[in-house]
Amino acid sequence: MATLKAASAETVSLRTSDDDDVLGKFPFAAPSIDIVICFHNEEDTIELLFDRLRAVLRECAISWRVICVNDGSTDRTLELLVKQHEHDSRVKIIDLSRNFGKEQALTAGLDACDADAVVCMDADLQDPPETIKDFIQYWRQGYEVVYGVRARRDRDTLLKRATADLFYRAFNLLSNSSIPRNVGDFRLLDRKAVIALRQLQERNRFMKGLFNWVGFSRIGVDYHREMRIAGKTKWNYWRLWNFALDGITSFTTLPLRVWVYVGVITALAAFVYASFLVVRTLILGVDVPGYASLMVAVLFMGGIQLLSLGILGEYVGRLYNEAKGRPLYLVRHRIGF
Ligand code: UDP
Ligand code: MG
Repeated sequence: MATLKAASAETVSLRTSDDDDVLGKFPFAAPSIDIVICFHNEEDTIELLFDRLRAVLRECAISWRVICVNDGSTDRTLELLVKQHEHDSRVKIIDLSRNFGKEQALTAGLDACDADAVVCMDADLQDPPETIKDFIQYWRQGYEVVYGVRARRDRDTLLKRATADLFYRAFNLLSNSSIPRNVGDFRLLDRKAVIALRQLQERNRFMKGLFNWVGFSRIGVDYHREMRIAGKTKWNYWRLWNFALDGITSFTTLPLRVWVYVGVITALAAFVYASFLVVRTLILGVDVPGYASLMVAVLFMGGIQLLSLGILGEYVGRLYNEAKGRPLYLVRHRIGF
């Protein structure tokens, strides 16, 4: 009796709840995986998505849940998701109160995860579910973040590729952290990385940057980004532009600080030019013409001031959003939790 008690006490002291968080449950118990998928008006893709996903998960021989976030869809998405849940209770649904945008929806999904690893993927089958097998394989080898790298982007238009390239260059140049190119949200995160991500409570959520910021041991897996199987992309160029601004402003303050140097250089140039004008006036007397140079100087300075003010505005606006401290998303129902 006494030995039994001692043994159970030892077991308890070996497995504290802290261990679960720091080490993950793996390899102590059979590993489990949560798949987070955000849906915004994806009624045409759901059935095919689940068919392919289920086939892959069956092969992986792992215990799984699919966490579907319905991001304010106005079509039959929710109804079809509920059908999937009724068919298989491992499909869980988080129904947001309105459309919050993909970054927020993804956050809602990650907050609901409780597995040893989490895979984030899109609903439109542009991220092939078969790649998840490779993700799991690398994760079992000990990598904590396995991200999908789009091997070819020839399905994207030339303009989209060029602007994406420009963005990566600008981002990596301006911010200290560098995000790998052609990497989206399609990835596997170990429990440790998910717990770390939950601590980043900023409202301005540039997930690609946040995924990168938390660190951990990482590896990329090439995959073929397919065409959207149905429906259309929710990202137009205006949305992409704002997304790029969010990304840059949330990871660097260089655009704010650069005006100190621009100001110093302009002031120095102005001082040199003013000295030249004073000396010239002293020697040659008053010289009335000068309209063109005056105009150029005024317009140039006006332009620079408006530009710097605009950049200031971008940051102040985001600061305002953070200061309000509103919740990141609101949930209408949770189904299956
Ligand atoms: N999405 C979302 N909320 C939005 C916009 C998109 O949850 O406000 C989801 C969408 O349903 C899809 C994923 O985010 O599963 C990627 O969206 P999309 O295919 O439009 O982006 P792209 O692949 O063109 O970058
Ligand atoms: Mg897509």
